[in-house]
Amino acid sequence: MASPVLPSSGVLSPLGLDSVRLAPGFWGDRVALNREVIIAHCQEWMERAGWIGNFRTLGEDPARRGARPRQGREFSDSEIYKLLEAMAWADHPALPELAATVARAQEEDGYLNTRWHDERYTDFEWGHELYCYGHLIQAGVARLRMHGEDELTEVVRRAADHVCRRFMDTTETCGHPVVEMALVELYRVTGVERYLEMARRFVERRGSPALADIPFGRAYFQDDLPVRKAEVFRGHAVRAMYLACGAVDVAVETGDAELLSAVEAQWDRTVARRVHLTGGLGSHHADEAFGEDFELPPDRAYSETCAGIGSIMLSQRLLLATGDVRYADLAERTMFNVLATAPALDGRSFFYANPLHVRAPATPVEGINQGAEGGLRSPWFTVSCCPNNIARTYASLAGYVATAGASGVQIHHHTPGEIRHDGLALRVETGYPWSGEVTVRVLEGGPARISLRVPSWASGAQISHGGTTRPVSPGYAVAEGDWEAGDEIRLDLPMTPRWTLPDRRVDALRGCAAVERGPVVYCAESVGDVPELALVAARVSPPVEHLVDGVVELDVESARLSPETGAWPYTPAQEAESPDLSDPGPLRLVPYHRWGNRGPATMRVWLPAADRPV
Ligand SMILES: [Zn+2]
Repeated sequence: MASPVLPSSGVLSPLGLDSVRLAPGFWGDRVALNREVIIAHCQEWMERAGWIGNFRTLGEDPARRGARPRQGREFSDSEIYKLLEAMAWADHPALPELAATVARAQEEDGYLNTRWHDERYTDFEWGHELYCYGHLIQAGVARLRMHGEDELTEVVRRAADHVCRRFMDTTETCGHPVVEMALVELYRVTGVERYLEMARRFVERRGSPALADIPFGRAYFQDDLPVRKAEVFRGHAVRAMYLACGAVDVAVETGDAELLSAVEAQWDRTVARRVHLTGGLGSHHADEAFGEDFELPPDRAYSETCAGIGSIMLSQRLLLATGDVRYADLAERTMFNVLATAPALDGRSFFYANPLHVRAPATPVEGINQGAEGGLRSPWFTVSCCPNNIARTYASLAGYVATAGASGVQIHHHTPGEIRHDGLALRVETGYPWSGEVTVRVLEGGPARISLRVPSWASGAQISHGGTTRPVSPGYAVAEGDWEAGDEIRLDLPMTPRWTLPDRRVDALRGCAAVERGPVVYCAESVGDVPELALVAARVSPPVEHLVDGVVELDVESARLSPETGAWPYTPAQEAESPDLSDPGPLRLVPYHRWGNRGPATMRVWLPAADRPV
């Protein structure tokens, strides 16, 4: 089975890339763009930036090492490994040559790092050596599952064995988690138990504390508390997600119910208080970190693409472990509004941060972008974790679509394609997320229970099969039968656009409202005939749909705030008047994931609500 996460137990088992084939459609088109454009784009930029060259330099005659200065940040090796993982899932022809370049840089004892080879393991807080191994191991796992043993997987085994020898009986760990989940997955694919034990020790050691204090504090790398004692996700959002993934993986493989429920409780509390409407994570730019509860400023939302991907990875693990549909719901929200937002429609530039409000049009950056601020996608970054992370996630996306369990086959993500499991073959046809009609056609039948996810927003959904139609509640719509080729199951999800209000404790959003339609969050973008967004207020009345190039755009009623300003932007309470609104007219909203594809613009998801009390 070829899936990025393949637990040996759990309520559900993923159907892998060998069981799910995506066809043209929202996700199928993006997966094809990844294979045809994004993977090559990443490789070209890492050649240009010299990050692949670092391996060549190290792989040459050792006497010449250091003759060419090393390029890139201390963790840039991990980017090549993420790309190798993408290539492995995509069965990309460029993999063997890139893997050979990496292999030549590996040392006799399995050590491999182009930055720290002369001063091994001297900086656990910032060195990222184990983090790099984690991504290398994930590439190897993908290769083993898609292809089998080769030069890359030999490199990976040697590196993983080196890590076990060096770290099994120490108290050390890495400032950036990821090696934990990577080692568990390597255990799952090889059966070698020391990899699981090493992962377990890395998870348990964290928070003892295992790392030195830093100016951001130990919460930055989740070393402030043991994983099983923490109550909420905190600190650097990508680190928090990757660690939680590793903890779930360890918990599932060792039968540690306490550890699993600790992570579930952290997820519950975080989702209730620390997640942006898009599913994005992070409210602090300086340390790329979660804010406090209800600290969710739209303009300062960090929502790093990688944190969204980490959240999708965590949701998938918790879904498989528990079968709870809420995890698939959050994964879908994050897929449509973070994962799909980051890459440009042509696959050649990317958002690193994904704020929900951009006040000033960004200035295009020539060449490598030194920063991560949102506003305009860039072809490459000094820290370019996000493009490669998109590449590996798109390449393995088919592994997230459907699962199987004691209760049959479950389709969690509605996208055109074919699903095969245990003699059953299904073809899914849908224009989702623009249409709410999902048709599952039976190609090869048999007795089976087929469950289709009904998202939490879809009240009023219906399922039809065998000549009957019945209402279904959010959760799963179940169709059971002895299916024959040609049978059809149809799910109808109501796609009426809806206004959404924030919890009153989210100070930065008070008085605002946003529009969602199906799983898609909408925004206003200052392109074309759109008023200045700083002066716009919206009426919470039914939006009007327009189909533009196959994409649903929405008009909402709006009015303008007065452009007049006083000398002081505050008023004594007893003198306050209702806001001065004028010039009513429609305001065009576009899917958030499409914004920023038409040049520099301002944008906002949350609109001041003209007709709602503050
Ligand atoms: Zn990133």
